[in-house]
Amino acid sequence: MKKPYILAVDDDASVLRAVERDLKTKFSVSYRILAVDSPSKALDAVRQLTARNDRVALFLVDQRMPHMSGTEFLQEALALQPDARRVLLTAYADSAAAIDAINKVKLNHYLMKPWEPPEQNLYPILVDQLEDWRAGYQESFEGTFIIGSRWAPETHRLKDFLAKSQIPYRWVEPDAISDPKIQAAIDGESVEFPAVIFSDGSVLSRPDQSQVAQKLGLNTVPSRQFYDVVVVGAGPAGLACALYCSTEGLNAVLIEKEAPGGQAALSSRIENYLGFPAGLSGADLARRGAAQVRRFGTEVLAPAEAASLRVEGEYRIVRLTNGQELAAHSVVIASGVEWRRLEVEGLDRLTGAGVYYGAAMTESSSCKGEDVYIVGGANSAGQAAVHFSEMARSVTMIVRGKSLSATMSHYLSERIKTIPNISVVPSAEVIEVHGEDRLSEIVVRHHDTQTTETLPAGALFIFIGAEPHTEWLEGVVCRDHKGFLLTGTNLVNGDRRPAGWSINRDPYLLETSVPGVFAVGDVRDGAVRRVANSVGEGSIVLYFIRQHMRNR
Ligand SMILES: Cc1cc2nc3c(=O)[nH]c(=O)nc-3n(C[C@H](O)[C@H](O)[C@H](O)COP(=O)(O)OP(=O)(O)OC[C@H]3O[C@@H](n4cnc5c(N)ncnc54)[C@H](O)[C@@H]3O)c2cc1C
Repeated sequence: MKKPYILAVDDDASVLRAVERDLKTKFSVSYRILAVDSPSKALDAVRQLTARNDRVALFLVDQRMPHMSGTEFLQEALALQPDARRVLLTAYADSAAAIDAINKVKLNHYLMKPWEPPEQNLYPILVDQLEDWRAGYQESFEGTFIIGSRWAPETHRLKDFLAKSQIPYRWVEPDAISDPKIQAAIDGESVEFPAVIFSDGSVLSRPDQSQVAQKLGLNTVPSRQFYDVVVVGAGPAGLACALYCSTEGLNAVLIEKEAPGGQAALSSRIENYLGFPAGLSGADLARRGAAQVRRFGTEVLAPAEAASLRVEGEYRIVRLTNGQELAAHSVVIASGVEWRRLEVEGLDRLTGAGVYYGAAMTESSSCKGEDVYIVGGANSAGQAAVHFSEMARSVTMIVRGKSLSATMSHYLSERIKTIPNISVVPSAEVIEVHGEDRLSEIVVRHHDTQTTETLPAGALFIFIGAEPHTEWLEGVVCRDHKGFLLTGTNLVNGDRRPAGWSINRDPYLLETSVPGVFAVGDVRDGAVRRVANSVGEGSIVLYFIRQHMRNR
């Protein structure tokens, strides 16, 4: 692989020398460092690098330069190198300009000058940014390929699984294979599509998730039978819980039926999580969280799905769908929620073939230049609309309510108003979808006028609220009528503790109706469905786990 570039731009010669020196000291083994003293020369350099097929991994740019600001430079440079990470060097007084850059060029970070010592103030930030860049980087002719029709639901499932597992892949239509390496891998084989080609040249025809996981070396087999804590679900709540358990010396295993990150990993940009003024993508949050829990020794099994829970004396035993059993002193259920299904004629048949639940990130590149429809008016739908507006020709949001303001955060509904290719159709719903083997039309009912309208549609993305899938806990843990898990005081009625409660104390704050079994995050009855809440509950549950272990 050719070394990618880090490009530093600053008109102040002494600052530029210092930046260049610090960058070379830390990064020259893996990156080429280019330091340029004016934005116009830097743009020439970017044009040349792009023409030579060289990649810029990171721009480190001064904001205050004559003739062109750092933000203006980034606006032009990103047209040539759109994947590069963007870091602005600002003086203290420039923080307003940096905030402006967050909106204009999706700035990834702003750094105050001076940054001495670099070990503390420069390197950790740039290492983070470069890791994020590498996670999304694909060198041509290397890595994993999915060969399959865009309209085959199996192709969509494979793309979704690899994307959520943070495995970089390239997707190619079977009749558009131009790469001789791909052709060589499938020539002479009786390959059925969708197929996955791995970096060693091996091919799997129409594989399921577990075959791909096995081939990629993902960990699905527990290393032991007994743990202090089994955590079910690796969304923000489960990741936070596993992290705190491991850092506090408990032996924890985290089981996840798809890939770490949960719903948060579907978010194109989380902007309300404290400490990330430029926002961060859900995929980056998931990757960082999973790396952090592994670093402190949590065992992560994914894909691995919990199928049942039972109590045997002091032990709580989780059985997986593959029959394996894990016993622990405590179990934390952090299984979150999943998209509610839209009950519409024809929809199930076309799911994965033009109709998608969530999936904004996986399918966005396929929607270039198309007319995209989104059902839903909450934040997840709004984020998806903003994300698609960058590549689709038009984005239409079909919303049951009279406006977005009742269901969406103010910052997002205001942003949507400023984006010209997003339109909002209020008081409306999709009542039918049509298509043979892929979506071709949707039928929309307008409640105000009592009329229906049939529209040609290539893609329909559904973001209509969510429900917990806790059927596997039926008869073991108390749930409310929608399936959310009851915890703490919600289980106690006057003096009456939940049925079957066997010990002489009330349930702790996040404890379910089974002592030692806890629920955190979106799956919990009454939870505030936000990343920060899930991370908070996942972090504090350790306190109650300890109490339970001490008093059992
Ligand atoms: C598109 C989108 C955008 C969003 N944007 C924002 C935002 O900007 N800001 C914000 O604060 N919030 C946002 N949210 C909400 C936020 O993502 C959720 O509140 C948060 O992810 C909930 O975390 P959780 O860990 O409780 O559950 P989840 O994130 O739902 O994670 C639960 C995990 O458990 C796994 N699981 C389920 N059942 C099992 C089982 N039986 N065995 C093993 N694993 C299982 C699931 O696969 C999943 O990975 C967004 C949500 C979506 C969908």
